[in-house]
Amino acid sequence: MENRLETLESILGRLRKNLKEKGLKNSKQREEVLAVLYKSGTHLSPEEVATQIKMTDKNASLSSVYRILSFLEQEQFICGLKTDRSGKRYEIASKSHHDHIICLECGEIIEFVDDEIERLQDEVAKKYGAKLISHDMKLFVKCKNCIRK
Ligand SMILES: [Zn+2]
Ligand SMILES: [Zn+2]
Repeated sequence: MENRLETLESILGRLRKNLKEKGLKNSKQREEVLAVLYKSGTHLSPEEVATQIKMTDKNASLSSVYRILSFLEQEQFICGLKTDRSGKRYEIASKSHHDHIICLECGEIIEFVDDEIERLQDEVAKKYGAKLISHDMKLFVKCKNCIRK
């Protein structure tokens, strides 16, 4: 899905700046995790990220990938999505707005944007005299493949 709002170089630049400000040293693995998520363009589990990292860095461990993912999420470089079955999945934060359909059986995540739903959310907020700032909508489903099983 070509909805990335920023180049990988620009995101890595922000990461380096962020680490410098915090007085943390840059780590190659942190950049690799970000690059894996950027290139995949989709929502990956920590295990999937670790598998890809291990292809270039045999010393990488799942626990270090977990640590990096939670750091990157906390610093808002990536977003975590909770799924019931397969735990948390992550995606790059710098993507155009979309909502998620999450399968409760297999953890499959589908992205969608529905203009009507976007508009209705604005209206609901307005009805309460409020101005909508953002929203985070998830539809929990049994997906097509799981229904067939
Ligand atoms: Zn499913
Ligand atoms: Zn997404």
